[in-house]
Amino acid sequence: MGVSRREFLKLAATGSGAGLALAGSVALGMDPEPVAAKTRQQKWKPEDTKQVPSVCPYCAVGCGQLVSVRDNKIVNIEGNPDSPISRGHLCPKGAATFQLVVNPKRQTKALYRAPNSDHWETKDLDWAMDRIAERVKKTRDENWTDTRDGKRVNHTLALASLGGATNDNEWNYVQAKLARSLGVVWIENQARI
Ligand code: SF4
Repeated sequence: MGVSRREFLKLAATGSGAGLALAGSVALGMDPEPVAAKTRQQKWKPEDTKQVPSVCPYCAVGCGQLVSVRDNKIVNIEGNPDSPISRGHLCPKGAATFQLVVNPKRQTKALYRAPNSDHWETKDLDWAMDRIAERVKKTRDENWTDTRDGKRVNHTLALASLGGATNDNEWNYVQAKLARSLGVVWIENQARI
């Protein structure tokens, strides 16, 4: 059924109230029944699953989560209504935890782009870790400051530590400890991008 813009606005204007809105939708050819029938056939996500109580990994609020597992695979993560902290609620970031563990786009290999190169190479994780350690040590050694203005500072201003949104609490804790022990001053973590 074709509806002109004018007819659509007229239907919308007269469709105050659920009944009228439904009548307007049907008049527009949007029968809700086929959609409802299709939705009813779909398996409810936590159906036939083992429910595992957990805690959102992202921030120190520690909201409770329920992880639904079917055939040893996570199929859903949602707020745990039994949590005394969050009572079933999750912020948008916590509500998206599922994609942290189940995500076909997740990078699982170390990629390296050499200086002046135009392509990425896949490397062993051990190789990548060694390379990072070498470069951090070299940069630190070459840019170490014992004293500044007659005061002992023991730091380097040539390194910075920036945590990402998918770093969890424990990772951020360890990363900040490591950076401070190396004498890094610029330490930041953004939690929401
Ligand atoms: S990131 Fe959001 S859901 Fe997770 S613990 Fe913090 S406030 Fe709660």
